Amino acid sequence: MAGIEVTSLHKKYPDGTVAVDHVDLSIGDGELFVMLGPSGCGKTTTLRAMAGLERQTSGDIRIGRTLVNDLPPAERDIAMVFQFYALYPHLRTRDNLAFPLRAEGKPEKEVRERVAEVARMMQLERLLDRKPQRLSGGEQQRVALARALVRRPQAFLMDEPLTNLDAELRADVRTEIKHLQAELGTTMVYVTHDQVEGMSLGHRIAILNKGRVEQVGTPLEVYDRPASLFCAAFIGSPPMNLIEVQVAEGALRGAGGLVLAPPDGLPRDRSLVAGVRPEALEVTAPGADRTVPARVVSAEALGDEIIYVVDHGGDSDVRVRMPPTARFAAEEQVGLRHAGGTPPVYDTSTEELVA
Ligand code: ATP
Repeated sequence: MAGIEVTSLHKKYPDGTVAVDHVDLSIGDGELFVMLGPSGCGKTTTLRAMAGLERQTSGDIRIGRTLVNDLPPAERDIAMVFQFYALYPHLRTRDNLAFPLRAEGKPEKEVRERVAEVARMMQLERLLDRKPQRLSGGEQQRVALARALVRRPQAFLMDEPLTNLDAELRADVRTEIKHLQAELGTTMVYVTHDQVEGMSLGHRIAILNKGRVEQVGTPLEVYDRPASLFCAAFIGSPPMNLIEVQVAEGALRGAGGLVLAPPDGLPRDRSLVAGVRPEALEVTAPGADRTVPARVVSAEALGDEIIYVVDHGGDSDVRVRMPPTARFAAEEQVGLRHAGGTPPVYDTSTEELVA
């Protein structure tokens, strides 16, 4: 097993596109590390460079203690799973699973034992004698995962491996991947553009934007204190409300009069925005303590929660997450207040977290 160190990784394609812009990542031994970001942010290129499928323009990649820049994929001791599972169509599951081991010249007895073990772990035993065309999409993806696992590599690299599965299967296989990684303790780098997937899987998450790393942190750190306005807008559904604020008399005052607790060390002379999660706001009866007058624009009942869009006279409407027991209707006059806590504050010109 091994950690992965990426140092100042840079990739410029021949057409001039800079896909990866001096990225540094330090992935721990046994860590499940997620690279998260919108389409085109450079996740896949970074992962392919780790795998040796793409040659970086500059920068270093180390797997374990080995500098792998000049090693071909087969000598890097990693296994990759892509969003399109490529099983050999003419081989039964058992032979698809055995393939990487036979390619390494392992003795047939060991091949049989390891295939049986991985089939048990991934619950594929009853599918061992079927060819891919007789497997469902989810089953094919489980076989593809199992085929990556069977080799016991130093690290797994996964590029959106669940993309082709329907929502329910995605959740199941996601849980399976998480358990397997914990059980095997093998370093895993997992690429996704789906923040829910990233947050639920990762020990730590790197958020990428335009080829650069915007933030690395645990899911909780990334959720509570996004490092930039980009991260604030990307994480959370609905995302943070970004409310223009001014520091006045020891408080943060938003347009519309909403009062927030100021974090320490706020700069005085800059234009600031506070990031307020929808669950950190509350809709109440009008005139209640510490509220500002507001109007419900719309209410979206999702079963386990209600999302209110509320106009409180600020620059833009805010979103408020309330329990399903809340009973406010569109157009109703209400009170809006901050439920507490200290929001992260951003400088609008640099778009970075300032306090
Ligand atoms: P997605 O989630 O859509 O796969 P990504 O975050 O994985 O996106 P990459 O595939 O790494 O992003 O692409 C990063 C940038 O590099 C994009 O602007 C993309 O258009 C560009 N790019 C990728 N491959 C090439 C190539 N072979 N030649 C030129 N540009 C490329």
